[in-house]
Amino acid sequence: MKIECIKTHHVRCHLEIPFGFSQWSYDQRNVLLIQVITDTGLSGWGECYGPADVIQAAAEKFYAPRILGMNALETDVIWQHMWRSSLDFARAGVMTAAISGIDMALWDLKGHALGLSVSDLMGGKHREIVPCYATGMYFRDMPEELLLNSLVEEAVSYAKSGYKAMKIKVGKNIPFDEKLIIAMREALPNTILAADSNHAYDLPEAVRIGQLLDKHDYAWFEEPLSPEHLHLFERLQSKVTLPITTGECDQTRFGFKALIESNGVQIIQPDLAYCGGPSEALKIRTLASAHGINAIPHVWGTQLNLAAATHFLATAYHEPGRAEEKPLYLEYDRTENPLRDELFSVIVDVDGNGAKVPTSPGLGVKIDIDKLKEFNVRNTETR
Ligand code: MG
Repeated sequence: MKIECIKTHHVRCHLEIPFGFSQWSYDQRNVLLIQVITDTGLSGWGECYGPADVIQAAAEKFYAPRILGMNALETDVIWQHMWRSSLDFARAGVMTAAISGIDMALWDLKGHALGLSVSDLMGGKHREIVPCYATGMYFRDMPEELLLNSLVEEAVSYAKSGYKAMKIKVGKNIPFDEKLIIAMREALPNTILAADSNHAYDLPEAVRIGQLLDKHDYAWFEEPLSPEHLHLFERLQSKVTLPITTGECDQTRFGFKALIESNGVQIIQPDLAYCGGPSEALKIRTLASAHGINAIPHVWGTQLNLAAATHFLATAYHEPGRAEEKPLYLEYDRTENPLRDELFSVIVDVDGNGAKVPTSPGLGVKIDIDKLKEFNVRNTETR
């Protein structure tokens, strides 16, 4: 089964309400999708996280011509071939995002070829339903007093629709963040809450916010510090009891090795559309397990990445194991996203109780080809 053609699809949607976080504000979403097609006509789909037009060039111009004709079922052989071909100048960054999308498409394809789901291919499911948390509460352009109320209302609406866990955004400014952390806990005394600053704080700020999160029983503190300042994480973790999590900006086992060895991170969060793909995510998970910590993916984008993360968590063995295990929560972004909600004819079935692990072959989701044309910005074909 040889790779005969690789298509890339840059898709875009415009958002009715722009959303913001500690770094930026967005009024559109862009994603690069990868389709790998074999000489048997079978194909698989993957997704890349990051700047779609730049990753498209890497996938189309660099990797696609190099893997044509390779055996599509040999996912590790293809991964190593792509990795070594760009190792001298792209050990991390958008080119690794391109590898990730191609690798995800190959896992989907292999599942279709063998009649197995991606979780079957990953070694089997520990669970049929993966518990999830709602990601939302992004900042909007409005006065802070109104914003605070609207964020609390949004969180309460998720709780009413059944979500038992959710994650808020912090990192706007310290006084606002502190009010928000307290207001959320007062409004939702029994909900599992987490906070994500998207690397907005310096160490003294992160300690201050981390201790407030501890006081209000938050479940984890995500990206408190810059990924460039690994030496600060241990100092932060020594001053708080809640787990420090990070990793959505990191890639490959080599990048995560450095992160884990910083000794300041209790949960790592590789994105399967960015860290090197499902092949590399499994290696990262093994590395994490050997250090006594868990890998819980960052999830953004379309149903492809959501499905990949669902399979990954269905097959996750909690480190350390016990009879009544602590849940590993799937990230389920609830912000406006037509590329997640309209582009697919078959989706991952998710509600407040969690995501049902797809059982059909491959990732178990299906693109609506007519919709693909509707969202298309630019597509390429290499054969
Ligand atoms: Mg995050």
